[in-house]
Amino acid sequence: MNLLSDRILNMSTSATLAMAAKARELRAEGKDIIGLSLGEPDFNTPDFIKDAAIQAINDNYNSYSPVDGYVELKQAVITKFKRDNNLTYTLPQIVVSTGAKQSLANIAAVMLNKGDEVLLPCPYWVSYSDIVKLNDGVPVEVKTSIDTDFKMTPEQLEAAITPNTKMMWFSSPCNPSGSVYSKEELRALADVLVKYPNIYVVSDEIYEHINYVGGHASMAEFDDMYDRTITVNGVSKAFAMTGWRIGFIGASEKIARACNKMQGQITSGANCIAQQAVITALNAPPTQVKYMIDEFKVRRDLVLDLLGGIEGFNSNTPEGAFYVFPDISYYFGKTLRGKTINNATDFSLYLLEEALVATVTGDAFGNPNCIRISYAASQEQIIEAIKRIKEAVT
Ligand code: PMP
Ligand code: GLU
Repeated sequence: MNLLSDRILNMSTSATLAMAAKARELRAEGKDIIGLSLGEPDFNTPDFIKDAAIQAINDNYNSYSPVDGYVELKQAVITKFKRDNNLTYTLPQIVVSTGAKQSLANIAAVMLNKGDEVLLPCPYWVSYSDIVKLNDGVPVEVKTSIDTDFKMTPEQLEAAITPNTKMMWFSSPCNPSGSVYSKEELRALADVLVKYPNIYVVSDEIYEHINYVGGHASMAEFDDMYDRTITVNGVSKAFAMTGWRIGFIGASEKIARACNKMQGQITSGANCIAQQAVITALNAPPTQVKYMIDEFKVRRDLVLDLLGGIEGFNSNTPEGAFYVFPDISYYFGKTLRGKTINNATDFSLYLLEEALVATVTGDAFGNPNCIRISYAASQEQIIEAIKRIKEAVT
């Protein structure tokens, strides 16, 4: 009998977290690694949010919170959904969790049965496929290409649907491609989905505010999709609060109740201090964090400009999030400094070893021709990293 379960043995390690851990290890050995692997803002959490957390500690917030979150926080989430997304939710439709990652895990656990297929437009965020598999679902990759800005077309969606299709999960702005679906593009996908009333959608909007084209659209805005869309969001990215671990969903009462029940057996309510701080974060106008978005846009342009000067880096223009996802298949079969590059994983490891720059292989996101570069790093680091990458590949 195995010590470990098939469940864990069949699971891949999160490639983003693994690369970040490897970069940390190499740094501890004294190597000057520039980390462009982790999707983590390099800003500090804004002071007005930190002050709210300190206040919560001093006010003796130290007890278990309600499993699905403090009512004041759920109310702030409702206000946020209305203000930013024109979505109307009521208290029983909101569940606060320990990060959007837990929100996603809850959804999979309460909605998937063995063999249920989940459509994942590729490239998709690294954890989607393993969360689905962990819950006996079958991830179905829908390949997209750089020609459509890595967005799934309605025809591709329809072709991927089978009688076993239970859900579709996607992020817009997308991690890792930075693609942003316009309202018209979402409507075109919705037009397909309305023909299949049993298919549910997870709309992961965690990069909502990190949008360079303006105009974020939510799938749940369409009346005919509202009941079967689970809107996932959180504070990790826009508020530079990755370590605070707060995410949330808006969903039908039935799904929200099930997530609440699941969470009650697995983790209970999210950290009470963090929840109090997030009330303040969400009640503030999103303009409070605009300075970070403006800086990300400058960095995006910088990265695209610098990568444009390197042969074999073919990228779309990301319209949101803080990643570029260049196709680097030009290097496959080539030998650089005595090392043969056979795939994106080889290339990413080559950059780590030879350029001392950490990136993530596209394999982890369902696209084996690309690597992901996070530009949630300072302009100086970006300039130095891409200079090193250029030297290593030429
Ligand atoms: N969705 C996407 C698309 C992400 O990039 C991330 C990464 N943090 C998450 C969900 C999970 O976020 P959280 O920190 O709230 O768990
Ligand atoms: N979402 C971030 C990323 O894609 C953080 C790491 C993670 O949670 O996987 O890098």
